Amino acid sequence: MINISFSWDDGSIYDIRLAKLMLKYSIKAIFFIPTTNMEQPYIKKPEIKEIINMGMEIGGHTHSHKYLTTIPKKNIEYEIVSNKEYLENIIHKDIDIFCYPGGFYNPYIENIVKKYYKRARSANTMRFNIQNTFTTDTSFHFYDRGIKSIIKNTFLSDKKEFFDIIKSLNLNTFEYYKNIIFYLSKKDTLYNIHIWGHGWEIEENNLWAELENMLKFIKDNKITIVTNKIMYL
Ligand SMILES: [Zn+2]
Repeated sequence: MINISFSWDDGSIYDIRLAKLMLKYSIKAIFFIPTTNMEQPYIKKPEIKEIINMGMEIGGHTHSHKYLTTIPKKNIEYEIVSNKEYLENIIHKDIDIFCYPGGFYNPYIENIVKKYYKRARSANTMRFNIQNTFTTDTSFHFYDRGIKSIIKNTFLSDKKEFFDIIKSLNLNTFEYYKNIIFYLSKKDTLYNIHIWGHGWEIEENNLWAELENMLKFIKDNKITIVTNKIMYL
């Protein structure tokens, strides 16, 4: 048995297209949105409202999307709080879930996040269980990281039997993900799969059809899709 949830990071201009795709498959994903983002064009107030009106969830992703481990300590709290306030003023709801830019954190950062949020997500992959922490790992990054990365992350995960799945495949990242989903869906234990990525990365790597394939696969196999609030809070 498995539950699946989705998150999309960075508030890029492709988030609207992502939200529409999620809506088409009745999926309530969470969008982690920074207030500004120097790395690329980012969505602003009207688009954030549009995403909310499509039934999606919104989570915090800092003011400027700088990696919190690389900025002066005195700026960390502002990065976290001002973004939370910015988003709450737009959507008129509490923002409870945070995502560390780049997935980078340390105990100092984690403690500040704990003051303002109920849960925080990292960018580590290949985890399939509920983790009641402020450093929640994910299952799949929806991006073709290549087989070396898959093997490395499979080694680091608590599911080494996935090597049997790897051996049976043509070593395609997305086929591997689907095989894991199918494999875990047949187990008696409940697993939680979290898939995340970036709209700009889906666009840059032309992964829209691949993503839609994955959503069709999930629907065809009648896998339960849950909101991030249900999975994590
Ligand atoms: Zn990010």
